[in-house]
This record gives sequence, C-alpha cells and structure tokens, in this order.
Amino acid sequence: MEFTWSDDDERFRVELRAFLESRAPGKPPKGASERLTWVKSWHALLVDNAYAGPSWPVAYGGMDLPFSRQVVYQQEIARARVPAHPGTGVQIAAPAIIKYGTDEQRRRFLRPMLRADVVWAQGFSEPEAGSDLPALRTTAVRDGDRYIVSGQKVWSSSADIADMLFTLVRTGPAGSRQAGISYLMIDLRSAGVTVRPLRDLTGGSGFTEIFLDQVVVPVDNRIGGENEGWTVTRTSLGHERAAGALNQAAMYRRVVTELQALATLRGATGDALTRQRLARIECAVRIMTLNAMRTVSDIIRLGEPGPASSVSRLFNSTFEQELHELAVDILGMSGVLGRSDPDAVEHGRWTWGFLRTRASTIGAGTAEIQRNTIAERLLGLPAEPVAG
Ligand SMILES: Cc1cc2nc3c(=O)[nH]c(=O)nc-3n(C[C@H](O)[C@H](O)[C@H](O)COP(=O)(O)OP(=O)(O)OC[C@H]3O[C@@H](n4cnc5c(N)ncnc54)[C@H](O)[C@@H]3O)c2cc1C
Repeated sequence: MEFTWSDDDERFRVELRAFLESRAPGKPPKGASERLTWVKSWHALLVDNAYAGPSWPVAYGGMDLPFSRQVVYQQEIARARVPAHPGTGVQIAAPAIIKYGTDEQRRRFLRPMLRADVVWAQGFSEPEAGSDLPALRTTAVRDGDRYIVSGQKVWSSSADIADMLFTLVRTGPAGSRQAGISYLMIDLRSAGVTVRPLRDLTGGSGFTEIFLDQVVVPVDNRIGGENEGWTVTRTSLGHERAAGALNQAAMYRRVVTELQALATLRGATGDALTRQRLARIECAVRIMTLNAMRTVSDIIRLGEPGPASSVSRLFNSTFEQELHELAVDILGMSGVLGRSDPDAVEHGRWTWGFLRTRASTIGAGTAEIQRNTIAERLLGLPAEPVAG
C-alpha cells in the first residue's frame, strides 16, 4: 500500500530536507562528553529553527504537525541520519507532563527537555519490580513542601548522562500497589543520588542502577496528585511502547535496503532460504510502517496510544531481532567480528545490532507482558490469574 502526499506535504518535505542537508552536524566527535555536547547542540538548533517536537504543542517548542506531516518529518529525519535525542524524556515523560502537569511544570520542564539542555532518564524498574511495576518499594516520605526519597532503581537507560530522573515512588503504605504510587521528577545532581553504569552484552553501558539515599525533592516536582501516579504512568508507558514508532519504521526501511545490499554483495541471494527470509523482512518492514501510522493516528485521534501500542512494540522488537539474525547468518564467520576488529564488515554494525537487540524483547515491557496486554485489553481474553 502506498500513500500519496499533498502539495503542502511535499513542500514541507523539500524545506525540511534542505534544512537537514545544510545544517546536519556530520560525523560525531570521538570523546563521550564531546559527543554529548555535539548531540545537545544539534537538538537546540532544531528547536531554535522550529524543526523539533513534531507532535508537541508549539508553546513548548514543538511543531504540532498534522498526521501526514509527522510521517514526512520522520522519513526525512531517518534519511538524514542526524543524531537521536539523548535520554528518554522526550518520548516517555513529555506526554505525561503535557497531559497531567501544571502550566508551571510544563513551562519549567518541556522546552529545556526538547532543546536537550536538560537530559532525562526513566527510573521506573527496581530489582524486585520490573514486569510487576506496582510492587515498587522506593519510598517518598512527605515532610512539608518536600519529599524525602530512598530506594533503588535499575536498568535506567542513559542515566549516567542525564540531569533529571522521571520516576515512580511509593507515597502510600507498603503493599498499596497502584493506589500508593506518585510520579516524581528528581534532580540527579541532588545530594544522596548515586548513578552506576551497568555493562551490557555489547560491551557498552547503555543502562545504569541508581541509589537514592534520603534525597530531598520538592513537592512541586510531582506530576499529578499524590498517590495518583499510576494514571500518569499509564500515559508514559503507552507512549514508551509507541515511542518513535514512525521514526523506527522510517529508520528500518533504510536498514532493510542496506541488508538487501549486504546479501547481494556477499553472494547470499542465490540461496532460496535466504531469499525467503529477506522477503519476510521486507514484508515486515512494510507492516511496521502501517502499524506506526495506526499508532500515531490513534494518538492524534484519542490523545493516547492505547493498548494497540503493545502490538507495535511486540512486532518491532521481534522484527529487529530477526533482521539481525539474518544479517549475521549472511556474514557467516565474519559475523563473529565485533566493532573493535579492523576486519569487521561495516565496522561490526550487524554483529553489534545482533547483540543489542537481544534486549529488545525485555525493555519497555517484555514480549510476554505485551502478549498479556494484547490478549486482555485488545482481544478481550480472560485476565491472567492473580497469585495469592
Ligand atoms: C535495554 C533495556 C533498557 C531499559 N531501560 C529502562 C529504563 O530506562 N528505565 C526503567 O525503569 N527500566 C528500563 N528497563 C527495564 C525493563 O523495563 C525491565 O527489564 C522489564 O520491565 C522486565 O522486568 P525485569 O527485568 O524485572 O524482569 P521480570 O519482570 O523479573 O521478568 C522475568 C521474566 O518473567 C516473565 N514474566 C514476568 N511476569 C510475567 C507475567 N505476568 N506473565 C508472563 N511472563 C512474565 C518476563 O517476561 C521475563 O521473561 C530496560 C530494560 C532493557 C532490557
């Protein structure tokens, strides 16, 4: 299925493409802190030129684009290969702030987040609360106009480069589950915060563990009512699953074409089974684009992605694993050479992708949890039994 774009959409595409071609920041610098500065200045430039936040309100630095232009925007961003936004705030916390924050909080948090002046990380998971998030135990005790927060968070992506943490804390009694959770913004530079990077399968440290020891947080940093954080969280989690759906689909359209080129170059297309797997991947990337469009049109129509975002999430995460499995099979023995090996094909990108995507069916809710959501909330099947 192909879509046609209006003349206005095409004019927008031409203008955006010209902007990206003339202003794209080129190759990243070597050091980690130089790279972060480089990424941040790119996003500040986008906001300052009104080319950031395609779905965000204009008042907070966004573009508030209609559906078709959001699709065009993501296609052009993927084509230009410009750096992604640092941290996870824009896609996950911002929708919750826009919906449940006060005007003062929207003013304080949103624009600096979009410009990447302030980088945000997500602190939801805990050692004993991942899939079962309502079991979380980090406590926030009210003391006048502040909370005293203690506990531990884990798997927080990019928290080592972040300034702020959007997090969930227990403000109700122990065991109060969803009814005793608040949504709190914590300054990671506060006394009592320790962030420790965790090494992952790729050799990098994409995520961290965070220790909170009597951290003082102003009550003004709470989004939504006290003990009413679960409603806010559902907005965040829905957007996390829908996050970047369009952007990911546009990016993978390019990657699949590159995979097809790799197969041709390595002489793998003579093999019938490989051709069959390539055809499956080609079909899947087209389905991914349609799913992404459905998710974004749901957000525009209903204000929320809804449980259908679990379909996109499950589909995309298994897709990216399958794609990289095929890539390393095509590479054969060369597939074992990592990014640091000078003989690695395309600087080891396929092998790195293979390792990185092992985590895709865990992050943002595991594949099993997405299947539960699809079964219960979309298909109306009986709810899973609650233990105890
Ligand atoms: C790359 C990556 C990035 C992440 N980034 C962040 C982040 O920025 N911030 C953050 O807060 N968290 C983050 N996470 C954590 C992620 O949300 C959790 O890992 C995830 O929710 C699973 O929780 P868990 O690891 O505690 O596993 P568990 O919940 O202990 O699950 C263990 C296994 O049991 C299965 N299982 C559990 N419950 C059920 C059930 N009811 N039905 C069927 N099967 C079930 C699971 O599917 C899984 O296979 C990230 C994780 C990854 C991998």
